[in-house]
Amino acid sequence: MSDWFRQWADRHAAIFGLTSPQDLEMFAAWRGAFVSAGFTFSELNAATDWMVKQSAPEFRNEHLKMIQTFIRQRRDEQRRFEQQTAAPMGKSYCSLCGGTGMVVVPHPRFVIDGEWTMNSSYQPTAAVSCLCEVGKRIEQAQFNKERNQKLMSLGLYETRIPRGLWTALLHHKSKAAGANKKAEEATRAADKRGKVRKPAALAETEEAPAITGSDDDTPF
Ligand SMILES: [Zn+2]
Repeated sequence: MSDWFRQWADRHAAIFGLTSPQDLEMFAAWRGAFVSAGFTFSELNAATDWMVKQSAPEFRNEHLKMIQTFIRQRRDEQRRFEQQTAAPMGKSYCSLCGGTGMVVVPHPRFVIDGEWTMNSSYQPTAAVSCLCEVGKRIEQAQFNKERNQKLMSLGLYETRIPRGLWTALLHHKSKAAGANKKAEEATRAADKRGKVRKPAALAETEEAPAITGSDDDTPF
């Protein structure tokens, strides 16, 4: 079984000496928060690498915040970069689909009474055609090709699941908040056991353990 969260947690724990039973509980709670946020193996490892280069924080709470802040900022930067590079292509930028014409939404079959009904680690999505010109062209092309299997448009989708609801579900808002609270509580509890060790390899980041495994960038 490949459990790369465990693999990352073991690596982070080894570098910072977070190996007490409370630390194990803390990592288990972090898993819930990081799953909700959709963090990937490579994002978490990048966060750890970055923290090794920074002055290592003494409290676990700061570890949690640094990891989350680092990954969110990294994503924001990537998004900005993608928006900047998409704009000069001659298309006007569409914030819904990013110019692709397709929008990823919670799968309509699994949204029942306003809830996305699957367990926390897997939330099925579907792609619908966007409301913009690119989306309309895709919808038309699909319609001409397969008359019986018409692609669902965002317009039709939103008559069943309105924008405010599906975006909220997609961002796991309530679930992420709950998972975050748990992660913070477990982290504070572990912090009471003492400070985090300074990593021995602070000056030699090249010697950090090699990252192996083929699950790189697979979301939880
Ligand atoms: Zn669009």
